[in-house]
Amino acid sequence: MKSPRTAKGPSAAKRKDKAVLTVGGVAVRRGESADIRLKISETYTGEEVVLPLRVVRGRAPGKVIYITAAVHGDELNGTGIIHDLLYGEPLELVAGTLILAPVVNIFGFEHNERYLPDRRDLNRSFPGTSVGSLASRVAAVIIREIILRADLGVDFHTAAFQRTNFPNVRADLTLPAVRELAEAFGVTLIVNGKGPEGSLRRAACAADVPTIILEAGEPYKIEPGILALGVRGLRNVLRHYGLLKGQPTPPPYEAKIRKTIWIRAAQGGILRFHVAPGDFIEARQAVATTYGILGEQKDVITTPSEGIVLGMTTMPAVKPGEPICHVALPAQRIARLRRENAAAKTTLQDRLRRDLATSLSVSPPTVESAD
Ligand SMILES: [Zn+2]
Repeated sequence: MKSPRTAKGPSAAKRKDKAVLTVGGVAVRRGESADIRLKISETYTGEEVVLPLRVVRGRAPGKVIYITAAVHGDELNGTGIIHDLLYGEPLELVAGTLILAPVVNIFGFEHNERYLPDRRDLNRSFPGTSVGSLASRVAAVIIREIILRADLGVDFHTAAFQRTNFPNVRADLTLPAVRELAEAFGVTLIVNGKGPEGSLRRAACAADVPTIILEAGEPYKIEPGILALGVRGLRNVLRHYGLLKGQPTPPPYEAKIRKTIWIRAAQGGILRFHVAPGDFIEARQAVATTYGILGEQKDVITTPSEGIVLGMTTMPAVKPGEPICHVALPAQRIARLRRENAAAKTTLQDRLRRDLATSLSVSPPTVESAD
């Protein structure tokens, strides 16, 4: 007599978290960890260029989650977040598998560069092909060996050169599984969108591997407030999908961002800001003042609508038309979000505001006296 079938459900056959998971040719069993050197290219001298990976597996079957950082080789906050996830509070996976890639663009990283040696942007080269350009071949290995072995993933980025971003998740909220992942991470700002053509997250989502990115802080830096937020977000995700025990920590408020706008300088000069990343702003509020080279006040720059400061320039000298402040326009009213934030009384939001504004001058606008 046949034994009754165990109720594994329809997903068992398609499960990616197999008893023995092979990544880069290395077999890793449940309950084990492995450090893997995944060959992605070769140098001029014909030596292997390898991507260091760590695979961490729980004892029980579950989701396979990939975490990638430094797809842009100068964006290091995500690398620091992965290090703190591994070596901070003990990472005791009860189920599932983590595939961690602290530096994806190993070529760019070696030269403090965003791009690959052929000047191509790796994050515009996915899904890539094995017979394409250098960037395309690197992308294809990452898709095959990391992304397609996972059920879902998080990719870490920072603002571009001379800009900073208040931490925000970017996600295609039209896809329910991506929306669930974005909400599970637990940040205040979730910006809706598919991501650029050729980006890792867009290619991963198209391959049915729900993926979000965190955009946080500046390139070339590992910023303490960002690390705290990033680790909290990852642990929230791992708890939500059952890889870790415990309850997720919710953000003080959650705003879905329907649109973002850049405020630009009208005149050339030196900037002083009146707002910091993460601040709530009202319509027609002064965000910065431009001063002449001898310190005379020239122009007060205001915002056209209420919103939240998503990012800003860290370069205090501006020419007309240059972007100075990126404002998120949430689906909810600012007054409501402001109330929720005040009621939550969390300290991380304040720490981030302070951390991210350390290289900027932020002070109230000067009120010119009438006499
Ligand atoms: Zn990036």
